[in-house]
Amino acid sequence: MRFDIITIFPTIFDSYFHEGMIRKATEQKLLEIHIHNLRDFSTDKWKKVDDIPFGGGAGMVMTPQPLVDAVKALKKLNPGPVIYLSPKGETLTHTRAKRWASEWQKKSGAILICGRYEGIDQRVIDLCVDQEISIGKYVLTGGELAAMTLIDTVSRFIPGVLGDENSHQEETFSRKLQGKKEYPHYTKPRNFSGLEVPEVLLSGNHAKINAWRRNQLS
Ligand code: SAM
Repeated sequence: MRFDIITIFPTIFDSYFHEGMIRKATEQKLLEIHIHNLRDFSTDKWKKVDDIPFGGGAGMVMTPQPLVDAVKALKKLNPGPVIYLSPKGETLTHTRAKRWASEWQKKSGAILICGRYEGIDQRVIDLCVDQEISIGKYVLTGGELAAMTLIDTVSRFIPGVLGDENSHQEETFSRKLQGKKEYPHYTKPRNFSGLEVPEVLLSGNHAKINAWRRNQLS
């Protein structure tokens, strides 16, 4: 699956996408992530990408020309839907991430627009955006964290990305846990700061362990 991200702060993504599961998935070619600096698409001689809002009011608005040109150029490389990360969008959940992973995979990817300032000119949304997605009911300073959260969450549902495909079967929010939250986890040492690992987990009796874990769901 190919993600193209349009942002005015491309270096924000450097660290996150070069570590852990996402790095492994890109090395295995299960994921392709391309970051694009919006200013490269601005025809303004100062590479300006924002301006004052018509009608007055606080803050700046991202101008349509660079965004529309960026989307047009990227659509030639990525046939997936164009998504604007926005607090006004459909809220990201476990179930929706699973659905979007399968929908976007059929289209081989998605193009993500990260807003800044007061947001983007409405005509960009009218002309090129297929879907608006929010990562929660709060307002961030920009769409970059939202894009990272969305890619991370959706990628976990791409076959092969998680080492063990059963990992998300029994997770918090998964259908199998029927709205309950996952059981607690323990690892070595058996005693830490006077706190013992529950005896049943050391028993080797998988029926008993499963029963204990079911009982611990909250
Ligand atoms: N004026 C906008 C409003 O009231 O809806 C908020 C703009 S916000 C300061 C700047 C950018 O951050 C937005 O264009 C969007 O891309 C991103 N953003 C902020 N909160 C978000 C959220 N909860 N989910 C996804 N993106 C968000």
